[in-house]
Amino acid sequence: MTDCLFCKIVAGDVPATIVRESDRAVAFRDINPQAPTHVLVIPRDHHPTAAELAAADPELLAAVLVEAHRVAEDEGIAGTGYRIVFNTGEQAGQTVFHVHAHVLGGRGLNWPPG
Ligand code: 5GP
Ligand code: ZN
Repeated sequence: MTDCLFCKIVAGDVPATIVRESDRAVAFRDINPQAPTHVLVIPRDHHPTAAELAAADPELLAAVLVEAHRVAEDEGIAGTGYRIVFNTGEQAGQTVFHVHAHVLGGRGLNWPPG
């Protein structure tokens, strides 16, 4: 999608600090980090929400999750613990409608969020 911010990051038209890339997913640092590690993992293909991705291509959703866990390993937080969040829809705070997994860690995280 030409007017999608995260599609532009995938295409290299908007700069981002990319930490991992695979044939199906890209991981980059959130521009406004909420924890010492805050990385977004997105599929290269455009799907608006996690729900729509799950319906359209569950294997791609699995690939995004696998990359999210690899990010945690790369960042050294796999042992201490981390959170993977898919904000889905407006009331959940989703602002970019290209599905993305937030990988958050590096400090104690509050529960429940929100
Ligand atoms: P959402 O609120 O949709 O779950 O998450 C969107 C995330 O994208 C936010 O955490 C926000 O900080 C991040 N974000 C928005 N614009 C940009 C950008 O241009 N570059 C990067 N790296 N992150 C962005
Ligand atoms: Zn997109």
